[in-house]
Amino acid sequence: MWIVPEAKIADLMDRATCFNAIEGVFAAMSRGDAYNFPVIREAIGHADALYGFKSGFDRAGLALGLKSGGYWPGNEAKGLTNHQSTVILFDADTGKVKALVGGNLLTALRTAAASAVSIKHLARPDAKVLGMIGAGHQSAFQMRAAVEQRQFEKVVGWNFHPEMLDRLAKTADELGLPFEAVSLDELGAQSDVIISITSSFAPILLDAQVRPGTHIACMGTDTKGKQEVEAALVARATVFTDEVAQAISIGECQHAIAEGLIREDEIGELGAVINGTHPGRSTASEITLFDGTGVGLQDLAVAAAVLDLAVQKGVATEVAF
Ligand code: NAD
Repeated sequence: MWIVPEAKIADLMDRATCFNAIEGVFAAMSRGDAYNFPVIREAIGHADALYGFKSGFDRAGLALGLKSGGYWPGNEAKGLTNHQSTVILFDADTGKVKALVGGNLLTALRTAAASAVSIKHLARPDAKVLGMIGAGHQSAFQMRAAVEQRQFEKVVGWNFHPEMLDRLAKTADELGLPFEAVSLDELGAQSDVIISITSSFAPILLDAQVRPGTHIACMGTDTKGKQEVEAALVARATVFTDEVAQAISIGECQHAIAEGLIREDEIGELGAVINGTHPGRSTASEITLFDGTGVGLQDLAVAAAVLDLAVQKGVATEVAF
């Protein structure tokens, strides 16, 4: 069994490898070659923790396994990250455990890669202004991955906690882009692409604030009850997701479905656009929306990619097991 510790991932994984792994696995899901198993997520009644598993099998890439972990709100006080996760990969031919891979950084990278894949396939080619809603841990990863997909000239941002906006300003600066903190009205009026990545439980971005032609990647809503955009905006947009079953149960689509504003069969798979079986954006004035709920196969895809790199570079440790 190979071990790739969390501390080694940053030097091994690059955004291009991550992007290709995510684009590939979304395509495999849509072809029916890869599928996710039901998600388990439980409040364990200890340390206020939420713990669970995301798992699946990619027959094309032969990635089989699970990501196990969750959220421990008291960790920061102990000098640890609140989100903790580990990926376990199994040999698809024998069921033997193949690798243990740190999952914390990979989670941020694979989530950012998912919205970047949506921007590649759904945003207008002439998109110039990137709007960021959210300034937490994930936001900097999101911005870095997004700006590689279009010739962005400016980033505008809004956050529920304005004191956190420094993170967006600093990241934009590192990327050589001007940054402006704006109201939500301004953000909608200026942005060609909007990424929302917050833990909100009520709509932040309203339908009336978004102009025609915008692409929106809703990345924060991954639990029942969370919501980042008004359901009417989801209804107005052409909607895509990583996995329809998750979108309607724990994703942004859960609200538009519950309010009867959209039907399940109106939600497209991003993988179908990648495979060319769905045309994706068809006009420059259309609003496209990617409901990125986060699936286990994403974790397996990036863990398998990082394992290959770690073995090639002699960084993985092999233990008899
Ligand atoms: P974080 O705790 O570092 O940041 C939280 C963000 O949400 C901040 O911008 C904060 O200001 C904002 N926020 C907090 N309370 C809010 C409220 N009541 N209303 C509006 N905004 C509020 O978290 P993070 O690691 O950046 O993660 C952000 C979200 O992304 C979380 O909901 C997380 O579960 C989700 N996430 C999704 C995926 C996926 O695959 N889709 C992957 C990882 C994280």
